[in-house]
Formats: sequence, structure tokens, C-alpha cells
Amino acid sequence: MPTKLSRREFIRLCAGSAAAISMSPFLAPFMAEAAEAGAPPVIWIQGAGCTGCSISLLNTVHPSIQEVLLKVISLRYHPNVMAAAGDLAIREAMYKVAEENPGKFFLVVEGAVPTGADGLYCTVGEENGEPITFVKLLNDIGSKAKAILSFGTCAAYGGIPATPPNPTDCKPVSEVIKNVPIVNVPGCPPHPDWMVGTIAHIILYGDYPELDEFGRPKMFFSKIIHDNCQRRQYFDNAIFAKNFGDPGCMLELGCKGPIAHCDATTRLWNGGVNWCVKCGGVCIGCTEPQFPGWPIYERMPEMPVGPAMTATVDQLGMILGGAAVLGIGGHLAGNILTGRIGGKKDAKEGEE
Ligand code: SF4
Ligand code: SF4
Repeated sequence: MPTKLSRREFIRLCAGSAAAISMSPFLAPFMAEAAEAGAPPVIWIQGAGCTGCSISLLNTVHPSIQEVLLKVISLRYHPNVMAAAGDLAIREAMYKVAEENPGKFFLVVEGAVPTGADGLYCTVGEENGEPITFVKLLNDIGSKAKAILSFGTCAAYGGIPATPPNPTDCKPVSEVIKNVPIVNVPGCPPHPDWMVGTIAHIILYGDYPELDEFGRPKMFFSKIIHDNCQRRQYFDNAIFAKNFGDPGCMLELGCKGPIAHCDATTRLWNGGVNWCVKCGGVCIGCTEPQFPGWPIYERMPEMPVGPAMTATVDQLGMILGGAAVLGIGGHLAGNILTGRIGGKKDAKEGEE
């Protein structure tokens, strides 16, 4: 497989603040050779979701969606962007591709997996007069894939469809498929760069980017929103907005930036135009496994203690009255869980 970029350069590119602008020229030589070598087959299926992840991918700017679909990958099945539909499409473009390419194709899953009532809450077609449920499709196809890319928080962690009371018993992909590597690219929706960059990494280097404890590529999800927020100065000076539109940190209005991992502050959305807090909203923490299991527009009564902790959040606990919010125990737990005390740090990407 052609490799014009070293792994280290690629990671730096993806993690850089101007990735959206600079990714295209670096990927161009690779894409030309990938087209000659034959891009890997990709099957994209949708379960319980809103199709927002597909829409987000279609908004990719650098490279363009044409380049992604025609040169980077060979998209064999996608319910929205292909002309064919119905039984023939399911049989020829999906089941046949999976059977003819065992262990060689990638399966992208968008949406959670409804498992209640034997999966009948989500059917994708019929076979011999019987419904093909999404959970059956995922088992049939997913178990033959080289890897599964769970795009969006619903596929990665259950997301909105799996939020209690969850009458359809929706589950994340990882609770259904156990025998195939899974990369989670969460977000509601995920940024197109996170999806394209993850696919490009896997194709370029033949393996997966370094993942965090929630299966997310570290190159996009290692940063805490709060650390690079342009309202951070307000936070440090304890100036908090009371209403939307006020100057000030949005913490009191429900901002989840202190516990949310993504690089939107520097990557920006919509081709590098804006991001969630800059446009006057709060960070709703859409990339986290707990999303949306918290009041979106209310300040969290306490900050969770766990792998999402960072030194910054520890300090947050101290500033806001750490004894009540986190306490010394939480501080230590965060340090241990993040590997700064007593734990073994993962090798950094690109140091091999
Ligand atoms: S709490 Fe939200 S608005 Fe305030 S500094 Fe952190 S990320 Fe920015
Ligand atoms: S800033 Fe917050 S709401 Fe915006 S994409 Fe990142 S995690 Fe989601």
C-alpha cells in the first residue's frame, strides 16, 4: 500500500490546528496510488440514528467527498448515496461483497443496534418473506469484516437511541460484535475530518490509529475542549454567563467542555468556520460515552470522576470548591486513571 507520509507526519497533520486546510495536498499523492492499487471495499449500514453522520461526511471539504468515495475507498453499499435499492441491492452490493471479501472489507456502522423484540424495531429488508433485522444484518456482515468503524455516538456508545427508558433495547456495536476490531469515531455528528482521517490512517498504514480507553483515535480525541476554549479566560477570572448571549464562561449554562474530548476548538466545523461555544452554544459533550445522559442546558451537579479526568478538571474541582465537587480522592483517582501516577503510559503514536 502506498505511503507518502510517515506515520508521525500523518498524526501531526491530523492533530494539527489547520488539519482541514492542509490534509488535502498531503493525501493527494496517496489517493492517486490508492486508486491504482484498488481501494478497499467499504459497506456502510445504518441502524437507529438520524443519518446525521452520513450528512456530516458528505460535508467533507478537504479531501472532497468525491475524492473520498471514488479514490480513498470503494464504497459498495450506502443506503442514501447509491442509486440501487431493495432486495437486489442488499443481496448484490452487501451480502455478496461480504461473502466474496471475507476479512478484507471495512464495515461502517451508523446508528445504535436495536435488540429488543428480536430486533424487529429496525428492519432493513426482506429475505424469503421474512424481515432482515438490523441486528441480524450486523451479525451476518460484521462478523466477516476486517474491521468495523462505529461512526457517531449512537453506534459507538448507544447515544440518544439507547438513553433510558430505551424501549427498543438499543446497544452500541461493541456489545453485539465481539470478534472483529472496532474503532469508535463518536460525535453527534462526528466531524468529517475525524471520519476521513480515521479511514485514511487505516488504509495508509494497514492498522489502527492509537485509541483511548473508549476506543477513540487519540489523534482527534485526546484534547479537552475546556483547555483551548476562547472563553477560558472568563472561566479563570470566574466570570460566568447567566444568559445565552452574555459574555463569560458558559459553565453555568450547562457547558460540558471540562469533560468533553475533541479538537473542535482548533479544527472548527463547516470547513473551518466555527465551533459549538464560539457560535454561542454550550459544548454538549457529544463525543463522550455518557452523552446525552445529562441535562444539556444545566450545570452538572458534579463533574464525573473517571478516565475523562485531566489535570485541568482536577484544577476545576479545586477552583469551584473541590471539597464538594471532587475532593482530594477524586484528584488522586483522576491522576491514577489517566496514568500520571503509578500507571504505565501508552507509547506515543509515531514513536515506533
Ligand atoms: S466551561 Fe465551556 S465555555 Fe467555559 S471555558 Fe470551559 S469550555 Fe469554555
Ligand atoms: S465541542 Fe462539545 S458539542 Fe462540540 S463537537 Fe466537541 S464534544 Fe461535541
